[in-house]
Amino acid sequence: MTIRYALRLQFRPDQDPQAVARELRQLCRAGQVDEVILFIFAEELNNGHETLAEVRSWLDTIRPWKEMLKREGIEVSLNPWVTVLHCDRGRQFKPDQPWQPMVDWKGRAASAVVCPLDKGWQAYYKETLALYAAEGFRVIWLEDDTRLANHAPLDWGGCFCPLHVAEFNRRAGASATREEILARIAQPGEPHPWRQIWLDMWDETQTQWVEEFRRVVEPSGAHLGLMTSGPHMHAWEGRRWARWWKALAGDRHPVHRPHYTGYADMMGWNLTGAVAMMDMNRVVEPPGTEIGPEIETAPYGWSKSHRQTAFQMMLAQVFGAHRHNISLYDLMGNWPSEEPNHAAFLAEMKPTLNWLSDLFPDTLRSRGVGCPWGEEMVRRKQTKPGATWRDLYCHPFGWPSWLGGFGHAFQMRKDETVNALGGDLGWAFTDEEIRWLLARGLLLDGPAAKILVERGFGKWIGLSDARFITQEDVVYTAEELTDPRVTMQVGAQVKMDDRACTQRLMQGKVAPGAQAISVLRGPKQQEVGHGVIIYENDLGGRVATCPWDTIGFDGSQWNVRRAAHMARILRYLARDRSLGSVGDAPWLIPQFLSDGTRWRGVVWNAGPDETATVQMHLPDGMVGPIEATQIDAHGRRTPVTWNNGTLHLPQPLHQWECMILRDAR
Ligand SMILES: [Zn+2]
Repeated sequence: MTIRYALRLQFRPDQDPQAVARELRQLCRAGQVDEVILFIFAEELNNGHETLAEVRSWLDTIRPWKEMLKREGIEVSLNPWVTVLHCDRGRQFKPDQPWQPMVDWKGRAASAVVCPLDKGWQAYYKETLALYAAEGFRVIWLEDDTRLANHAPLDWGGCFCPLHVAEFNRRAGASATREEILARIAQPGEPHPWRQIWLDMWDETQTQWVEEFRRVVEPSGAHLGLMTSGPHMHAWEGRRWARWWKALAGDRHPVHRPHYTGYADMMGWNLTGAVAMMDMNRVVEPPGTEIGPEIETAPYGWSKSHRQTAFQMMLAQVFGAHRHNISLYDLMGNWPSEEPNHAAFLAEMKPTLNWLSDLFPDTLRSRGVGCPWGEEMVRRKQTKPGATWRDLYCHPFGWPSWLGGFGHAFQMRKDETVNALGGDLGWAFTDEEIRWLLARGLLLDGPAAKILVERGFGKWIGLSDARFITQEDVVYTAEELTDPRVTMQVGAQVKMDDRACTQRLMQGKVAPGAQAISVLRGPKQQEVGHGVIIYENDLGGRVATCPWDTIGFDGSQWNVRRAAHMARILRYLARDRSLGSVGDAPWLIPQFLSDGTRWRGVVWNAGPDETATVQMHLPDGMVGPIEATQIDAHGRRTPVTWNNGTLHLPQPLHQWECMILRDAR
């Protein structure tokens, strides 16, 4: 398969149109660009919602460029930067825009971000779409301001305006105020029915206007494309993905641009977050979706290295991308020809991205320890007294960051063998689903274990009376690994003193038959609590409960003793099956993917130190002969000799680079 580059660009209406056309032509040739996505009124050129006259003027400006590109064989799409508008930044509604502004949960109203329920805005937006559709673009993009969260300067976003409150009251048969509704939505205990009604109201009204928008665009043949933010953020809006794809695409395939990684250079430990985000998107995308991940540098200039950009493009390809929607140039009209290194980089990477696309079709699914989450998680989360709207958030990246960070493959869905639940995800599943998880291998962190004990599952994890302690209650400073089955050295100690993950520790009454495989010690080496508890339950499952939090992973938890401990705990949970891992080196992060027949693997170096040797533990099912290839940050491929899992690399593997493994199928 040949992957396609779609470059997102904006030029100013006041620029010489001939000069812009020259730049576009030259850039597309030099960067092997297949598609140009023209922005209009984006970022620095945004003045709120453009009037229809201004929209027409923008289209007049870009039309000659679009026609020229088409003549050159380049596809052209349109990216209006505004749906409801990302954020105010001082912009205001114009005199002929008497619309309801978006309102946050505290009652603050935006000055230019609009409430999407406003009928006047909906009518206006349909008129703009009709203008766009008449132009013959391949895709007309809905920006990821097509969401309720993240609309500065509002707190979180919205919309909790009078229109939304009235629509809620109509559906609920109530006459409540915003404050009364919010109090019930966040009320402790079993979620109040109003939470479901509110989130349904948000989701159903949004998909209704997305569907109406699609119907405006569809007759022209153009696709309505959707950019999305993290699926965990959309879960907070009550998003039900099946409904969105149907509204967006009707009977055609959805066109999707997922956001999945940082806009500027990141620290190495964030690599697992990018893997998890891409995988969450693959979980919600239906088969046949056009997958076009967002490859973006922001702010512009030199804020992201080509080395990290190359990683992001290769990761997108591992997850079956068809297109790369790329923003490497600023949106202020500066000439791309002044930065020829970007186009050269794109041309340099393309052969290897094509090579990867053949090896990693979109039919592959990630494998490894299951880190399930669900679009329902915010609907099911139980809160504590005093909770507000902000407390409904569910964080799905806890165990993925630990597992990936310690060299274990993971997937953002359930696994048949071993799963991991962390934090509030203890609320995310039904009783039946929890029993299914407990009947296999299950790794829990302290907060998830406490929730499961509260939910009545303590007898299957070997704990009762779960509670949190802090260093104010008990001065714990280290965890001693005491069980020869699960530590590289009995007596090894791991720091528990003032880490993000040890601000509170879960302690409980250990049931008969459950075993503590580590203990908490204080500064005088006195035992002050239990560490990890393992238990084999009568559902046939094995459970390991760690007392710490999994959120807040920042790399400072990475050490050789904990790595050995985690590897052995996972082996216990999997009953000696292998789900795929990489050993004996810090910072190496593996991925495995399969369609049930073919197997593929990736090892990323997330650390600043180069690696010369890699020790692989393939997942059961992936059998030799194995072909290995090293790829550097310029996309250069070098074969590596496979020697029963030990790989001596012909050249050092540097940060953000990878090694690819394939079986013979
Ligand atoms: Zn509203």
